[in-house]
Amino acid sequence: MQHAASSALVVAGWHRMSYKYSDNSFISEELEKHIRKVHSIVGNACTDKRYIVFGAGSTQLLNAAVHALSPDNSSSPARVVASIPFYPVYELQTDIFRSVNFNFQGDTSLWKNNSDAGTEIIEFVTSPNNPDGQLNKAVLHGSNVKTIHDHAYYWPHFTAIPAPADGDVMIFTLSKLTGHAGSRFGWAIVKDEAIYQRMSTYLALNTMGVSRDSQLRSLKLLKAVLAGGGRDIFEFGHETMKKRWEKLNKVISMSKRFSLQKLAPKYCTYFQKISGVSPAYGWLKCEKEEDKHCSAVLQAAANIIGREGSLFYAEDRYVRLSLIKSQDDFDLLLNKLNELVSGEEGPKNM
Ligand code: PMP
Repeated sequence: MQHAASSALVVAGWHRMSYKYSDNSFISEELEKHIRKVHSIVGNACTDKRYIVFGAGSTQLLNAAVHALSPDNSSSPARVVASIPFYPVYELQTDIFRSVNFNFQGDTSLWKNNSDAGTEIIEFVTSPNNPDGQLNKAVLHGSNVKTIHDHAYYWPHFTAIPAPADGDVMIFTLSKLTGHAGSRFGWAIVKDEAIYQRMSTYLALNTMGVSRDSQLRSLKLLKAVLAGGGRDIFEFGHETMKKRWEKLNKVISMSKRFSLQKLAPKYCTYFQKISGVSPAYGWLKCEKEEDKHCSAVLQAAANIIGREGSLFYAEDRYVRLSLIKSQDDFDLLLNKLNELVSGEEGPKNM
C-alpha cells in the first residue's frame, strides 16, 4: 500500500497478445534478470550458471520437477518422499498425476536405511518448513537420490538467511515474496541443463508457459521491490513477522495447555546480525493428554480456525496457525488466544 502507484500496472487491450516473447520463448528475459537481481541482493540463492524456469505458482513447478527428476524408461518408478510434518500438496499432487515413472511413498525417515541403490528416490526438502518453520536439510544422500528444495519461505521476512541456497533444483514463489499468491507466479533455479530442458518441456506441454499478464505484473512488482536498493520490503516483512511471533509467544508462554515450536535465532547474512525469529506459521501443540484434537479444542473454546496436524501427516495434537493473514485477522487471533489462556486457571479473584 505504501508503494501503490509505483507498483501499479496498466496494459493496453491490444498489447502482448501472442503466446510467446519475441525471442520465441515463454519466459520474459527482463523478468528473469530481475529475479536474479533480487536473489543477488538478498543473498538467498546462487543463480550463477543456473537455468531458470517459470511456473504458474510454485505449485506447477513441484510436479514439473518430480517429472524431470524421474527415470524415463525404467521398470522401477522413482519413490517420492518428504519429512513429516510436510506440505500436503507434495503427496496429493504426486498421487493425482499418478505415473509409471514416480509415486509417493510417505515419510523420508522410512527410506533412511534403504541400501537398494537401484531405487531412485526424490526427496522434497522444505526450508523453512511449512508448517513448523524449521530450516530443514536433505536427509537422504547418494547417487540414486534427487532433491527438490522448496524455498517458498526462504526470504528475510520468515527466516535468517545463513547462506545462499545452492541446491540442484530450488523452487521459489512470488506468493511468499510479495504476497501476490493470486498472480500464480513461481520459478525454479536449476543447475543441470538436461533437468532444465525436461522441466521446460513439461511447462510447454502443460500450459504453454506462464501467462504473460502474470509475468508482466510480477516484473512490475519486482521493480518495486528493487527500487531504492531493495531493502524496504524485507525490513518491513521481517519486523512485522517478528513482532507477531513475539506476541504469539508471549501469550502461549503463559499457558500450561499449549506450546509452540522452538526456533533458534541464527546469524542472517542479509541483515548482518542475529535476527529475531519470524516464521510464517505457529505450530501449536495441545499438551494435555485429553486434548488429542487440538484444532477442535481451539475451534470449540475460542472459535479459532487452524489446520489440523494430520493434514501435514503429523498428530492432531498439533495445529497450524497462520501468521500471514491481514493485521486485523492476526489481532483477532491474538485476542482470542489471550482470552483462552487467561481463562485456563479458572475465574480470577476480583
Ligand atoms: N510450497 C510451500 C511450502 C507452500 O507453503 C506453498 C503455498 N502455501 C507452495 C509451495 C505453493 O505456493 P504457490 O503455488 O502459490 O507458489
